[in-house]
Amino acid sequence: MASPKPESLVALEQLRLDDARALLGRDSTLALPASVEYALPYLQQVIDGLCELSLKDPLTGLSNRRHFRAVLDRTIDMVARSGEPALLLMVDIDHFKVVNDTHGHLAGDLVLQAVAQALAKCVRTMDTVARYGGEEFAVVLPNCQAFFGIAVAERIRQTIEDMQVPQPLGQALNVSVSIGGAYAPEWIRSTAALWTERADLQLYRAKNEGRNRVVLDTQAEIFVSAEEKNMLFGHLALGEPAWIEAASGEASANATAQRAN
Ligand code: GH3
Ligand code: MG
Ligand code: MG
Repeated sequence: MASPKPESLVALEQLRLDDARALLGRDSTLALPASVEYALPYLQQVIDGLCELSLKDPLTGLSNRRHFRAVLDRTIDMVARSGEPALLLMVDIDHFKVVNDTHGHLAGDLVLQAVAQALAKCVRTMDTVARYGGEEFAVVLPNCQAFFGIAVAERIRQTIEDMQVPQPLGQALNVSVSIGGAYAPEWIRSTAALWTERADLQLYRAKNEGRNRVVLDTQAEIFVSAEEKNMLFGHLALGEPAWIEAASGEASANATAQRAN
């Protein structure tokens, strides 16, 4: 029988050399040559450093997109298991191109770093703030009730509106952000792509409605995509789309009733 791969036993970012030794020898008492033992602390530092590099955005120090994706998947699993609401915020700096065009790329980089710091300060330690790309950030808030979600999103918007970003030469800069947010559907296992798409749709609305504002979906607004229906009712489907509609409507009503209780 094939032996399991080490990565299925220990996630890389949690890898400690003691685990590696156990994996190699399947015996934690395995004696390693003295020269290897001597190098273990250094090797552990190398592993930790590489993990840091692979998960962080170098400009802002926030989680990068790869880490964000892993957190999103983990949160979807958690929501499906516990039913606790989780919120995804997409945060995009308004008219950022004008900052670059008027004040230069370096000024733009300082703004990105300041916005990143402000975001990190506005959330709980259990939340994840990531640089999604360019001047767009994502915040994953597990275990987030609706009143808390809107309060955090508004706190982020206000903090950034009030912020002055000092510049080495010249006046400090002001920026604003638009924020779109979506809750993970509680009663169905969604996908990272669909959840992100929902939050992006709200961000698009925030931009269209004038920027420097927060738009969150409401739980009632959550629609179930064909892909999600298939995940939940695929085994029932088999050419009976009417069944799926009826069953998914019922599940939605149950979920609403549960929330009301
Ligand atoms: P909107 O309000 O619609 O979001 O407009 P915007 O100008 O913010 O958006 P747009 O997509 O037109 O421009 C984003 C700019 O962000 C263009 C790009 O050069 C800049 N940008 C992306 N990554 C970086 C970066 O790492 N540093 C700097 N300084 N600028 C960046
Ligand atoms: Mg922008
Ligand atoms: Mg953008």
